[in-house]
Amino acid sequence: MSVKLSTTNHDRNIFKDKYIYPVVSRRAGGLSLGINLNTNNACNWQCVYCEVPNLTRGKPEPINLSQLEKELIYWLDQIVHQDFLKEHTETGTSLKDIAFSGNGEPTAAKEFGAAIKIVMKQTQNFQLKDKVSIRLITNGSYINLPETQNAWKQLSDHTREIWFKIDTVDSIETKIINQVNLSIKSVTSNLEAALKISPVTIQSCFLKIDGHLPSEQSINKYIDFIKPYAKELKGIHLYSLARPTKQNTSLVIERLSESELSAIAGKIKQLNIPVLSFI
Ligand code: SF4
Repeated sequence: MSVKLSTTNHDRNIFKDKYIYPVVSRRAGGLSLGINLNTNNACNWQCVYCEVPNLTRGKPEPINLSQLEKELIYWLDQIVHQDFLKEHTETGTSLKDIAFSGNGEPTAAKEFGAAIKIVMKQTQNFQLKDKVSIRLITNGSYINLPETQNAWKQLSDHTREIWFKIDTVDSIETKIINQVNLSIKSVTSNLEAALKISPVTIQSCFLKIDGHLPSEQSINKYIDFIKPYAKELKGIHLYSLARPTKQNTSLVIERLSESELSAIAGKIKQLNIPVLSFI
């Protein structure tokens, strides 16, 4: 029986390639071809809700770019010329994006710029340049480095977007949720660096931790932080724990209910930018 991909079936191991994996993504609005540059499951953050199994702290291992390109050609051929969509997705599903979204922070890879070049070449070859978006799903921590800026700037005449993670702007909460020391000054400079090179959507994961919802004070701080950038941002995506965390933590991490997340969305809507909740 052929496997059907859906918004709830996100198993990256169904199709066994090393770097490229297809998923049906609600946030992308269809099929997303993911590029995993972090095949060793290493990230510089360790978010308490992270779904990456055996996550370690660190950088990606070297990337075999010719294998990555071969896999990309295979998948684009399956989607554009073969029957992949018909066989493995619901009727009406189309390819929406090619997303750098791996088992860790994609911009930590030395080969990030070279991988973008490959994606540009192959979207051109498959005549997808104006049809699919190139996305970067990032925690933003390397975005202001010249190499990351130059890498993403290659896409200046492509449809592109950065989904930039901000779960909280309180540094004590950041330490608990993302398990990193990150000052508000760094978040500011990272977000401004992202806005300089790309359309940006903020993505925020809200959780119940040890039975506590995000505090009113924390949400207000988040809103005040985003306010000066509201006109420049494409929008905000809110979500909560979709699947059980794969991290060891002594905290009790729970998913917000639909009404709890929509109450937060209701407050954030005062920013007058599109706020979408995914639960
Ligand atoms: S930044 Fe992403 S990959 Fe890294 S720990 Fe957080 S959720 Fe996992």
